[in-house]
Amino acid sequence: MTITRKIAIDLGTTNTLMYVPRRGIVLSEPSVVAVSTDENAVLAIGNEAKEMIGRTPESIVAHRPLRDGVIADYRVTEAMLRYLIQKAGASVRFLRPEVLVSVPAGITSTERRAVVDATMSAGAKSAYLIKEPIAAAIGAGIPIGDSAGHMIVDIGGGTCEVAIISLGGIVAAHSARVGGNRFDEAIVEHIRKRYGVICGEQTAERIKIELGSAVPENEPRQLTIRGRDLATGLPKEAVISSLEVTEALKEPLDDVLQAIKQVLQETPPELSADVIDKGIVVSGGGGLLRNIDQLISHATSVPCYIADDPLVCVVKGAGAALENIDAYKRSVLLTK
Ligand code: ADP
Ligand code: MG
Repeated sequence: MTITRKIAIDLGTTNTLMYVPRRGIVLSEPSVVAVSTDENAVLAIGNEAKEMIGRTPESIVAHRPLRDGVIADYRVTEAMLRYLIQKAGASVRFLRPEVLVSVPAGITSTERRAVVDATMSAGAKSAYLIKEPIAAAIGAGIPIGDSAGHMIVDIGGGTCEVAIISLGGIVAAHSARVGGNRFDEAIVEHIRKRYGVICGEQTAERIKIELGSAVPENEPRQLTIRGRDLATGLPKEAVISSLEVTEALKEPLDDVLQAIKQVLQETPPELSADVIDKGIVVSGGGGLLRNIDQLISHATSVPCYIADDPLVCVVKGAGAALENIDAYKRSVLLTK
């Protein structure tokens, strides 16, 4: 058995991913922890915990360790981290691993300390932090050490983080509380108002993934969905078109565009010339929304590209930084 000495973790609001040098991405699970309210004990984590949501007795509640990218519940976060370290096969007793965790760019020093403390008490020998936009940029293949400015937009479940990176550091950044969850909520709201049907957020997410498009499609598609009739409380079907989904997503997508524009406006002119030249790169699950690149390029007049495999950019980049910590030492935050 090989002992895992180094682990990179992307503790996202929605999904948690883990990378081990030479092995690659070893885990990708929802960031959910199921806790029993009776004994206040952790019952399940990740996939297993997510399956319990909505299907479990009232004495079990599902917690997400993070909200808007920062620790919402310390104990839950620690449980999640401990689970990850154990899953990686890192022997906690004999040789504790070095753990690199990605954190939002705008995190306060108190919040930073909380992540480090949780990582240490979960069994790490040392804890390093990397800012998410930097990890995302490395994972998207952007040469972050360049003197040129690069813009990365990471659209996760809870937040949209926009940053300009140059010489391995963040020059300008903004984080907006808009992401995939708000897209789902907008779809729930639309279906309720338009059809008088209540659908769950998981259904809304499926509609977003199957039908969603950031700009109106030339050949709209349709999907039959099932929910509960607002008036009678009985099951009811509705046929939804992709054009309606685009319409429903307009408001949250405007907030994404607003965040991007704000950072473009704060960018020093020399660097914005680079951004216009090299384009905007999108990572995170929100980057998988159809035609979001078109929407962004159209709204900003800057070319926009979706990173390859946007869901894994942050963990891949964090993993690369961990493997080459000397090369990236300017971008990794040492905590001890
Ligand atoms: P976080 O970093 O917050 O954990 P992720 O980067 O893992 O978030 O992205 C999760 C979000 O991506 C979810 O809201 C999910 O619905 C959304 N998502 C995943 N796949 C798609 C897709 N194909 N189209 C649109 N959104 C998607
Ligand atoms: Mg993320």
